Amino acid sequence: MTWEKNVRRVVPYVAGEQPNKTGMVKLNTNECPYPPAPGVKAILQELDREALRLYPDTDAVGLVEALADHYGLEPEQIFVGVGSDDVLAMSYLTFFHSGRPILFPDVTYSFYDVWAKLFGIPYKTCALDENWHIRPKDYVGSNGGVIFPNPNAPTGLAESLDTVEQIVGANRDVVVIVDEAYVDFGAESALPLLKKYDNLLVVQTFSKSRAMAGVRIGFAMGSKKLIRFLKDVKFSFNSYTMNYPAQKLGVEAVKDDAYFRSITQKVMDTRTRAKEEFRRLGFSFPDSMANFLFVTHERIPAAELFTALRKENIYVRHWDKPRIDNYLRITIGTDEEMDKLFTFLKKYLESN
Ligand SMILES: *Cc1c(COP(=O)(O)O)cnc(C)c1O
Repeated sequence: MTWEKNVRRVVPYVAGEQPNKTGMVKLNTNECPYPPAPGVKAILQELDREALRLYPDTDAVGLVEALADHYGLEPEQIFVGVGSDDVLAMSYLTFFHSGRPILFPDVTYSFYDVWAKLFGIPYKTCALDENWHIRPKDYVGSNGGVIFPNPNAPTGLAESLDTVEQIVGANRDVVVIVDEAYVDFGAESALPLLKKYDNLLVVQTFSKSRAMAGVRIGFAMGSKKLIRFLKDVKFSFNSYTMNYPAQKLGVEAVKDDAYFRSITQKVMDTRTRAKEEFRRLGFSFPDSMANFLFVTHERIPAAELFTALRKENIYVRHWDKPRIDNYLRITIGTDEEMDKLFTFLKKYLESN
């Protein structure tokens, strides 16, 4: 058993469960309730066997160019990866190498501390204020880098571009990563700041707003220098991460901007309706700009509601963690799915 003491031991990130039950209402992992752009399905049917026999393009040039075009950047300013989790892990490995602690909020995406521990990067968390907002002054002073989502998860709250700029500007000697997994549901992107700051990395994903969580596409945007360093690390690790079909499908998704706008708008409309319903039922929540709501009930503990919902095959997310253990994170589904949720909640709250 001596080899065991030489093992790299990690406590892994725990993703939300992926049940597959008929009639279930799955509101636990922030997927888009609508299908990807029609062109994505069309391309999928066209893919011939050469798409599988050959190695994919290591630079995913087609996808990178489509993204550069869409966001008004140079192709050299874009890095793509297998979901933004892959992009973020590579970014940790590349940029958080000073030996000083990196900073992120105490209530945030639960992968951040996992990567820090995996790579042996020291970290410090900064408490969100009592309204779940970031306090920019916490991010001033010596550190090894900064990462935060905007909008934040699991609160859904967005910070203003001004707050983001304060943090980026106060940290010119390290890299600041803004994880914009949910930015397409009404928040303001940090993209315009790229013109001014070469230490800013903006990370986005196809998993939520482009309805392609299963395809695994994420990307980072930054200065050419930043992206070059990121590629150097990636190509020292695994050249062929993003498969050929994913590259092709990604291009189709980016090209169809009208469809993209229509599904993100539908999610936002349903979110507005859901906020009213939750309020009526005695829930409160931060004013989410993401495709989920972070709700707490005035009377019934979150853990109890979580269990009751699960019995009904309605899946939401609950964490047994300080500050957030009385909250549920509920993805915005279709109107029909939300109706099922509210019908059940109404009934449950009347009899409990
Ligand atoms: C969902 C999510 C990601 C990762 O998504 P991918 O599917 O890996 O692109 C990253 N950050 C936050 C905050 C998320 O919620």
